[in-house]
Amino acid sequence: MQRLIAIGYWNDGSDGCSLHNPQEFVDSRGSVALRESIFHYLQGGRSGAQYLGYSWCRFDCGIDETKMGSADLTDGVWIWPEGLAHYVACHDVRLPAEFIEHARANGFQTPTPVFEDDAVGDFDFWIEWCDSNTNGDPEAQKLWRRTQDEIDSADRAIVEKLIEKHGGLSETTCAWAGCEDLALRELAFCPSCAHNKMNYWP
Ligand SMILES: [Zn+2]
Ligand SMILES: [Zn+2]
Repeated sequence: MQRLIAIGYWNDGSDGCSLHNPQEFVDSRGSVALRESIFHYLQGGRSGAQYLGYSWCRFDCGIDETKMGSADLTDGVWIWPEGLAHYVACHDVRLPAEFIEHARANGFQTPTPVFEDDAVGDFDFWIEWCDSNTNGDPEAQKLWRRTQDEIDSADRAIVEKLIEKHGGLSETTCAWAGCEDLALRELAFCPSCAHNKMNYWP
């Protein structure tokens, strides 16, 4: 039987539930670009199983429940609830470095998963990670920042290479909605959107 590594499942308040609450993993010091990349990766997962009801935001931020989703998404290795992207994007919830490295190794493009119908989520990794990575643990925060720094500097190197490849930036703004950076010469997008959102490599 195929086992998918579960992440992003929170305490539902039921008796004996050993899951944590997302508030314990909030860290807003990180890179916005990385957060966006993770958000897109999470959103790009394929639906594994559908639950009967919608999930709700544990931060009570007022987001419509239908936007939190009612499915589990997978990339064939990891499995997460549809609403996890919202916690990362809107509440700065951090995730295990192992998952981020996996997403990064895929260029932050969610692969189409190959998974069996009887695939099950394995919660051991997630429970153990949560137990030893809450905000009360300074080592966990250090690891999170190191992961982000590494990814940031790798991203910066790619951006520089793209600028070099295109002979500089143009004078028009990036075509990606909401982005105000200058586009690369002879391309409609800025280096960061071209790379992080469209998987364009130098
Ligand atoms: Zn929320
Ligand atoms: Zn852009």
